[in-house]
Amino acid sequence: MAKKSKREYVWLECSQCRSRNYRTGVSVAEGTPKLELKKFCKAERKHTVHKLRRK
Ligand SMILES: [Zn+2]
Repeated sequence: MAKKSKREYVWLECSQCRSRNYRTGVSVAEGTPKLELKKFCKAERKHTVHKLRRK
């Protein structure tokens, strides 16, 4: 029973074409962390910076 960690599902949105390519779970202890990750964008077929976006 893990009820301590508060998890929330967010989207990783491409900063170039705004397509939401990934869904991930993050812990939101003190608000949503600002994450920027280099991910592969399917729409553009290249690696771009993806930003965390809440639904
Ligand atoms: Zn893209």
